[in-house]
Amino acid sequence: MIVRSLGVQNYRNIADGLLEASPAVNVIYGENAQGKTNLLEALWLFTGGRSFRGAKDAELVRLGQQRALASLCFYSGEREQEAEISVQNGRRAAKLNGVEKKSPSGLIGSFCAVLFCPEHLRLVKDGPALRRSFLDSAICQCRPSYAGVFSRYQQSLLQRNSLLKDIPYHAELLDTLDVWDERLAGYGGRIIRERRAYVERIRETAVAAYAGISRSREKLAFEYQCSAGGGTAGNEQQALLEALRAARREDVAAGHTSAGPHRDDLSIEINGLSARSFGSQGQQRSIVLALKLAEAAGLAEACGEPPVVLLDDVLSELDASRQDYLLNHLSGGQVFMTCCEPEAAGRMENGALFHVEGGRLERVS
Ligand code: ATP
Ligand code: MG
Repeated sequence: MIVRSLGVQNYRNIADGLLEASPAVNVIYGENAQGKTNLLEALWLFTGGRSFRGAKDAELVRLGQQRALASLCFYSGEREQEAEISVQNGRRAAKLNGVEKKSPSGLIGSFCAVLFCPEHLRLVKDGPALRRSFLDSAICQCRPSYAGVFSRYQQSLLQRNSLLKDIPYHAELLDTLDVWDERLAGYGGRIIRERRAYVERIRETAVAAYAGISRSREKLAFEYQCSAGGGTAGNEQQALLEALRAARREDVAAGHTSAGPHRDDLSIEINGLSARSFGSQGQQRSIVLALKLAEAAGLAEACGEPPVVLLDDVLSELDASRQDYLLNHLSGGQVFMTCCEPEAAGRMENGALFHVEGGRLERVS
């Protein structure tokens, strides 16, 4: 996957910008709050996902303007493709090669990228939500149908939770819970199955990457952890259904659903000890790096070519040896990285250097 150019109009603080990319490394530098992350965010939207900052679509439009537009010209294999994303009236719309998609998520699987930003460095230390979202975001790009299943699960969960809250006042609603349990178990079982399979797929690469980064004999191990009702491979749906039924009384009392993939986690250990509780900051960073490299390798395998790698401000957070390891093990994909000083990008043999100031983008070399 190689980006040829990214054009943006009225996107965040960028009135009009065109980035003609190098197929190797593209360094975007500038002072704080000038528009560097905005450019990476615009690129990321072409994966079909939402803003990685959790922004509402309306916030993407330049203040005082009606419509933001981003266009991407990229190569997937030998094929040149053109995608377009517009944001208007708080709604994102997407086109691929001139054909309008039903929703922006219709782009999933066409343009693949891996994002690494400072927030990801908290992946090990933080609560399980960040680890679940690491798995979900990675799986979505490898298996585009996952996004639909995931969003239907979320909708069903909301419906079941609101039903649980109503039941104490309307006992007759208890009977309708069966339908929601079945629905939740159907989607939830598939999510558990996909997440488990993904963890298996990236394990070997992540373990090897950790050994390379830490240059030690420490053993990284990780496992998908089901909150309840994961069952064994192949019977996730039935096991989740049974867990939902078993927890029914407590769920009605609590007013929310206690079992299911929305409560699961990825447990991570170093030499048999929880990396979250016992890992040093350095060990935790190395694990994140190893997981991100495994994500890139997994995506390369799924797409049949390396994904575009987006490194937002992350190099300055890593020491020299981790920087080197990261840059040398990105499976040969095109890289876009942001930093405040161009020197922070390290040694760049071939590539392009861009400067951003006040939303204006200029190629420096
Ligand atoms: P840092 O080095 O601090 O990460 P950055 O160069 O990555 O900075 P960005 O996050 O890309 O900065 O850009 C932030 C700038 O964009 C801020 O000045 C912010 O006010 C501006 N901005 C964000 N959204 C909009 C918008 N919708 N309209 C206009 N300006 C916006
Ligand atoms: Mg930034």
